[in-house]
This record gives sequence, structure tokens and C-alpha cells, in this order.
Amino acid sequence: MVYLDNNATTPVDPRVAELVVDVLCGVSGNPASSSHRSGTRAAEVVDAARTQVAELLGEQRQSVIFTSGATEAIHIGLLGLGFSAQGQRRNFVIAAAEHKAVIASAELAARVTGGELRVARVDRSGVVDLEHFDSLVDETVVAAAVMHANNEIGSINPIPDVAHTAHEAGALLLCDVTQAVGKIPIATAVARADLSVLSSHKMYGPKGSGALVIDRHLQKTLQPVLAGGGQERGLRGGTQNVPGIAGFGLAAQVASKEGERDADRNRGMTNRIVMELSAFLAANGLPRPQLNGSVDDRLPNTLNLRFPGADADAVIASAPELEISTGSACQSAVTTPSHVLTAIGLSAGEVSECIRISLGRFTTEEDVNQAISDLAAAATRVYAVNDTREGDDGS
Ligand code: PLP
Repeated sequence: MVYLDNNATTPVDPRVAELVVDVLCGVSGNPASSSHRSGTRAAEVVDAARTQVAELLGEQRQSVIFTSGATEAIHIGLLGLGFSAQGQRRNFVIAAAEHKAVIASAELAARVTGGELRVARVDRSGVVDLEHFDSLVDETVVAAAVMHANNEIGSINPIPDVAHTAHEAGALLLCDVTQAVGKIPIATAVARADLSVLSSHKMYGPKGSGALVIDRHLQKTLQPVLAGGGQERGLRGGTQNVPGIAGFGLAAQVASKEGERDADRNRGMTNRIVMELSAFLAANGLPRPQLNGSVDDRLPNTLNLRFPGADADAVIASAPELEISTGSACQSAVTTPSHVLTAIGLSAGEVSECIRISLGRFTTEEDVNQAISDLAAAATRVYAVNDTREGDDGS
């Protein structure tokens, strides 16, 4: 099998897996119990990981709050802001292509404040329409949430401009950098946003670990959503997942060192997939696949391709050795068309012709060769079946 669904989740880096097992077996204390050696050792492991994640983000001004993943971090951020909202600031703004975790959390936050959720349009590439965003963010808005990079089509938002617009209106900005980490530089986005969120399992770390990164001046104003034993600066009660956090920390350190190299490799391979697949299909008189999102300004590992006239499920079924997805994997149990592809202007029919291919650190040139030949063969078969059906219909 060839795994090309790294935006859904990444395999754990073997270096990280080794550390997770070591910590799981060797560090048994509770980091909150500093009165004995086992507790202190666990607290040291958590602190070391906090430093590694902070170094990846390049920020000194902000605190890293460990969570179970990006979804929880988004909820602690947006709901926490909802609970602490005061006066006329009760509304929230998001971009139309945000991850469902942000959409659902912002809906809840608006329910908490009794305010409304406003949704800014995105353009054909999936980038937030700054003019529309500007018109929605006003003195009634608590916070806006705009992702750095999109999980389905890889589009990249201009976070410094987004932050400037939000701040001019006195609103805060939460930036979801989950898909950007290790793929494009994120330090500027994290520095400009007031809150950022990321997830270990999208960057070769273990599942069940993530972080909310929060400007220190906000820490005291944000109301805790998960109250408890006061862990994570009182913002996320509950005993920390020490092995998961240790693995997340090491994954962050590896991403700091190797992210750029991974990105360069993946850029070369995704470009090759588009060119070779396109050349093969065109040479056989078949439609070229259309790239959704921006051709140049996208995550280097991500391709969202539309095979005009070919049903994506049929293409995937005809390439059983490839592990790829239609739309976002987090939503694949749901059959409604992807809200991201709909937001960039595709019809429901066009959405049903789209597949997402996302490469990762462990994708090889051989994997890419197989992906190109399997997809070319699969699309050719689906177009041939379509032709036969059309012939049958006509007779
Ligand atoms: N944000 C983005 C952009 C994602 O791609 C995902 C996962 O698909 C999430 C948030 C949710 O992350 P987690 O699985 O860590 O809750």
C-alpha cells in the first residue's frame, strides 16, 4: 500500500516512537506531584517538551498549553474567549474554509455569548477575502479564527494582514497552524496571532497531543473550559499525557530541523504528480486533472485534483493500492460535499470528482511513481466506463 493521506494524519516518526515508549515505560510519575522524584522527573519531561514546541514556534512572548490535540485547543481558546466576553463584544468571525473543529467551536462560542457567527468568503484559491473579512470584523467582535494553511486544498492565508485587520477593530485572532507546521514557515503567523493551535499527529508525533499557544497577557483573561487541578496554567485541568507530550516535543524539534527539507522534497514530488499525470491523460485524449487551490502558493505536500467527468470514489476504488481521500479525512464518514471545495465555487457534481493526495516525510519517489501510474490507469478505466455508459444510453 502507498500511504498518501498525510494531511489526515502522519505516521509516527520512529525516533519519536522510541521516545514515547521509553517515557511510557520509564517515567511513571504525575507531573503535578513535585514532592517526589517520580513526579519531578515527569514534570521535567513535560517542561522539556514545552521548550521544544516553543522553539518550533519561535516565540518567547507566548505560553504553550498542552491539550489532547488541535480540536481541544480550539475549544479552549474560542470557548474560553466566549466565557470571558464582556460588553458589546459578543460576535465571532471565521473564514469559510476553516476546519470543522473551528466552525463547530466558533458556533458554540457564539452560543455562549448570545452573539452571532459571521463567515468571511474565500476566493477561488481558498484564501480569505480580506475585504469581506474587514467588513465583518468590527467593535462587536470578540475574536476571529483564520487558519494558516488549509487541510483540503493547501491554500495559505496572509496571516499578518488578517491579524492587522482583526487588531484594528480591537478583536483577537486565533490561527490554526495545524497543517502549516513543518511544511511552511509559521513563526510570523504565530507571532501575529493572539492564539494559535497545533496538533502532534499532523507532524509525525503521537495522536492525543496538541497545544494551544497563547499570548501571555491573555492567560488571565481567558476563562478555563476544562477546570480541574490547575494544570497547564489553569487552562486545561487534568493529568498531562506525559508520553504523548514527550513525543510531541521531539516531533517539534525534528520539524524545526527537517521541515524545510521535507517541504522541498514534497514540493518536487507533488509537482511531478501533476505534470506526469496530466501529460499521460492528455496524450490519451482524456481531460487533464484540474488543481484546486493555488498552483504556486499552496502547501508543498498537498494536491487536490479534480478529474473532470470522473467520479472520485470510482477513481479511488480503481486504485486500491493507494491510500488517498476525497475531501477532508476528518469528514469522510459524512457524505455531504466538502464545505471547502464548495466555498471555492465548485458545484456538488464537481466536488464529487475531487481527490486529495497529501505526501509526507516518509513518501518515496517509488511511492510517487506508483501513485502516478495507478491514478493514470484508474482514471483511464473510469473514463472508459463512462464512454461505454454514454454509448449504451445513446443506443
Ligand atoms: N485543524 C486542522 C486544519 C486540521 O487539519 C485538523 C485535523 O484534521 C484539526 C484542526 C483537528 O486536529 P486534531 O485531530 O488534533 O483535533
